[in-house]
Amino acid sequence: MPENEIPFRERLAAAARQEQFLSVVSREEAATRFRAAVPHRVLPPEDVPLAEALGRVLATDVASPIDVPPFDRALVDGFAVRATDTQGAGAASPRRLVLNREILACGVAPSLAVAEGSATPIATGGVIPRGADAVVMVEQTEFLDAVLAIDLVQAARPGQFIGYAGGDMAAGETVLRRGLRITAREIGMLAACGLARIPVVRRPRVAVLSTGDELRAAGLPLPPGAIYDSNGPIVAASVIENGGEAVSLGIVRDDAAALREALQAALAENDIVVLSGGTSKGAGDVSHRILRDLGSPGILVHGVALKPGKPLCLAVAEGKPVVVLPGFPTSAMFTFHDFVVPLIRAMAGLPPREDEAVAAVLPQRVASELGRTEFVMASLAETPEGLVALPVSKGSGSVTAFSQADGFFSVPAARSGVEVGETVSVTRLGAGVRPPDLTLIGSHCVGLDRVIGLLAERGLRARTLWVGSAGGLAALQRGECDLAALHLLDPETGLYNGPFLAEGFRLAPGWGRLQGVVFRRGDPLFEARAAEAAVTAALASPDAVMVNRNVGSGTRALVDDLLKGARPAGFWNQPRSHNAVAAAVAQGRADWGVAISTVARAYGLGFLPLTEERYDFAYAADRRDTPALAAFLDVLADDRTRAALRDLGFRVGDTP
Ligand code: AMP
Ligand code: MG
Repeated sequence: MPENEIPFRERLAAAARQEQFLSVVSREEAATRFRAAVPHRVLPPEDVPLAEALGRVLATDVASPIDVPPFDRALVDGFAVRATDTQGAGAASPRRLVLNREILACGVAPSLAVAEGSATPIATGGVIPRGADAVVMVEQTEFLDAVLAIDLVQAARPGQFIGYAGGDMAAGETVLRRGLRITAREIGMLAACGLARIPVVRRPRVAVLSTGDELRAAGLPLPPGAIYDSNGPIVAASVIENGGEAVSLGIVRDDAAALREALQAALAENDIVVLSGGTSKGAGDVSHRILRDLGSPGILVHGVALKPGKPLCLAVAEGKPVVVLPGFPTSAMFTFHDFVVPLIRAMAGLPPREDEAVAAVLPQRVASELGRTEFVMASLAETPEGLVALPVSKGSGSVTAFSQADGFFSVPAARSGVEVGETVSVTRLGAGVRPPDLTLIGSHCVGLDRVIGLLAERGLRARTLWVGSAGGLAALQRGECDLAALHLLDPETGLYNGPFLAEGFRLAPGWGRLQGVVFRRGDPLFEARAAEAAVTAALASPDAVMVNRNVGSGTRALVDDLLKGARPAGFWNQPRSHNAVAAAVAQGRADWGVAISTVARAYGLGFLPLTEERYDFAYAADRRDTPALAAFLDVLADDRTRAALRDLGFRVGDTP
């Protein structure tokens, strides 16, 4: 044999003498070792400019720092009026209103009040001036040039065409929750709140390397025997999809020195390193050998009883996780999703991926190897007999199987196959978002924002809809939600909430909110007076303007008590929230109103206490033990929650 053939003989011998996987472990054991060695923990937060927040994960709950809109505004082009001035207006009996010497274009702060018998021109988005409580459309008026007045041919409802301050987002209201992936929609909300820098979770940097002499990058010519690198791009894209930052480091040859160098460079600058290929124990498979030499603890697992995916190698080098995925694309994707995706998502602050599973019948037998958990790609088909799962048998070398299949099912290690007609549970790939665990409808309270935040710490997500107390109760009775949040006063009994519950519903005690008269500090009509005395003084003062609340709200009942039938200026200004009342007073559009103390505090207003209202939660008794509802009630009763509520200024401890 000629000398120059000796190295080849050696190589031949090495290839024929392939090492065996000595210690193949179960999928569960592999996951346990990996989780024990690598903390699956969220990374610290960082602030980014709003323009860079797209796709990032919120690190904290975000409360709106302002009311949106920040003031009561006109919803149409027309005139700001007093609704009472328009009563009885019709085509045959127009009402004449004199125009004030001011035009409220957008961005103009009003300087004149709308006095009785007058109107101020206002544009869509203009600030409603003091005294006005409705807007009439320009189309329903006739301008009288000679006298600078308008004739109105239709009466205006109080509140007509007014968008109230805080109607969209109220100051202090939690509008976005941590763990949320920011999309264009959230960018808009954050911008409307005026937030220029956003607290987001630092993205885990994931280095992605492909190994193999046969690999070429897309765009290059393909010599005989070569294939394009598909694992690198698909892994990098999956990293990004799951909240990580992909650092694509390209293709490395099956050469120990080159790979060692590339790996060390990757470890120096990234949080996770993902390699693919070279993990089998054949000739030319060098990845795992290099990892073996990188120091303790080194390789945690090499060989998992998975099909596809057996050659998976999990290691820790220089304190960082290194994962070597099998080279075959389907194997690479399965193992990546099984082991790497949960780690990336945990570090990125995202909830675990929720793959929806559906039951489907198998129309053909699927054979499987005993002793390995086998994953079978399947496409789903709807038949008259129900859903069937058609196995996609393209083998683990296929790049298309993962995208053509609708999902996969697993055959447990202990079984040698699944029979015709058996039902399997198909996990749908990328099926989407998990529905909320709990739906809560009713009246908003900053205290509830806090409770929901604490519930989220237990991994439970709540959807909230603020439609007011009565709306929440109606939704609960229609079975549309788990909980109604309410504060309704029964004038007959003087009790809150309880008297409104139908049979079969129960009340969970929430907390007390102190209601009182709010005013601008320093106003002599109110300063150093008791609430009733102050309102009496205001009613006697012809210039004082009030802001009311909507009929049906608990607060309105208190206002009616104070007014004793009087209808002072501002009576018809009837916004739907505490925030809108506080905003009107703080901005000088009104002088007093009734709101809760926490809101008065947020606006820096003076506060004269009136009474305590109860804010409680109603639920259907027969759903008391559903897990999410039970967890909510548990969080509500928790000492930590109650302390947090007390800190916010609410009264806890009493029962309704
Ligand atoms: P290996 O794990 O290196 O033994 O590779 C197993 C099989 O996967 C071989 O057919 C490789 O050509 C193929 N393979 C390895 N890496 C990639 C890659 N990045 N893209 C596509 N196929 C690959
Ligand atoms: Mg290879």
